[in-house]
Amino acid sequence: MATNEYDVIVIGAGGAGLMCAIEAAKRGRKTLVLDHGSKVGSKILISGGGRCNFTNLTASSRNYVSENRHFCKSALARFTPRDFLAMVQEHQIAYHEKKLGQLFCDGSASNVVSMLVKECENAGVILRLGAKIKSVVKLPNTTFDGATLFEVTVSSGGALTGQVETLVGSSVVIATGGLSIPKIGATGFGYEIAKQFGLKVLPRSAALDGFTFSSEVQKKFSELSGLSLDCLATCGGESFRENVLFTHSGLSGPAALQTSLHWKPGLVLELDLLPELSVEAAEQWLIQGKQERSQILLSNFMKEKFPARFIDFFCEAHQFEVKPLIEIQDKTLKDLIGLLKHWKLEPRGTVGYQKAEVTRGGVDTDELSSKTLESKKVPGLFFVGEVVDVTGWLGGYNFQWAWSSGWAAGQVV
Ligand SMILES: Cc1cc2nc3c(=O)[nH]c(=O)nc-3n(C[C@H](O)[C@H](O)[C@H](O)COP(=O)(O)OP(=O)(O)OC[C@H]3O[C@@H](n4cnc5c(N)ncnc54)[C@H](O)[C@@H]3O)c2cc1C
Repeated sequence: MATNEYDVIVIGAGGAGLMCAIEAAKRGRKTLVLDHGSKVGSKILISGGGRCNFTNLTASSRNYVSENRHFCKSALARFTPRDFLAMVQEHQIAYHEKKLGQLFCDGSASNVVSMLVKECENAGVILRLGAKIKSVVKLPNTTFDGATLFEVTVSSGGALTGQVETLVGSSVVIATGGLSIPKIGATGFGYEIAKQFGLKVLPRSAALDGFTFSSEVQKKFSELSGLSLDCLATCGGESFRENVLFTHSGLSGPAALQTSLHWKPGLVLELDLLPELSVEAAEQWLIQGKQERSQILLSNFMKEKFPARFIDFFCEAHQFEVKPLIEIQDKTLKDLIGLLKHWKLEPRGTVGYQKAEVTRGGVDTDELSSKTLESKKVPGLFFVGEVVDVTGWLGGYNFQWAWSSGWAAGQVV
């Protein structure tokens, strides 16, 4: 094989691309990984607050949003969270389970990147950073055994800046991720390539992201900035018991991030701010409080369960007079509980790709084989990881999709 010829050219050195390359090279395929960035796995490095929530032991299709919820099943079943964990253990990376099923490194996320780089080295993957991809084209001629060939034109960075090279590959794997965090190298390259080859790309939006609101609401929330509340957040039919955090730009925290994945313009976000109590139990708590501590001010009584700043804001926003409990009718107290159990908010949008953890939407799964991630229209062209319309919940699910989809393609490229 000539020096510029490869069995597999993977574009994107993130989790999905690296996993695909490792598996392909282990099968003896001459494999090249290209990335325009200066680092391998740059998103892994900033993930999970620097500790990388590298998988979730409970991952199943239930934890993913996609036009076709069944699409991710095959890859997830063949390369499971336990399989990735076995790799982590083999490399003696210390980890812990933070919440149900969420596995994080004890030390740094860089442990995961080092592990993947080591696996690449062991398998013989060639890694090239600073590579600007100028074009990907399918050659009119095929090989003698009928396989397709692709030509990838690359201009190099670093010492080789500007040097343009033409590479040839039997398989090209697009693993360039989504649009979130452009400052560390996210681009829409994968979507453009999909469109160039006639594949359908579904609309994309920033997800696992904070919510923004009308300027009036946002101003109020910014006064509560830094305050966090336990709640049951519901949007688009999915509910999450997590914390919500008030910020200068609106609402963030895990409850907001989780529900943002299920939000679409026009949908209401509902927060249950007394998630541990039923409506009846919450009403009873307040009415019993009125009987036992009749002279206490409403806001002071509520401070048993809420930070003072929040309850003052909430009572004012909903025009509840701050009077001693004895002076408030039971019906009014019940109305207050109703509002706290069903606080309806109308987000204006989400913060956007500069903060969002993922991109929802992407290459239509109808265009790909769920077993191999190969394009049905263009044999030899593969799409893995976040570029595909499979988006996981918060909690290690997105990396598991990157590993599983990369692994699945790696078996056949
Ligand atoms: C702040 C943050 C924290 C996160 N934390 C977690 C977490 O703890 N757990 C979890 O499961 N998920 C987390 N995620 C989501 C997770 O990082 C992604 O879903 C995952 O990295 C996707 O992997 P990927 O390989 O498909 O794409 P990426 O990791 O995005 O890799 C794509 C690669 O392609 C390269 N590339 C892009 N465009 C081009 C181009 N034009 N030419 C050449 N190369 C290109 C990029 O430089 C990049 O290296 C987090 C995301 C963010 C932003």
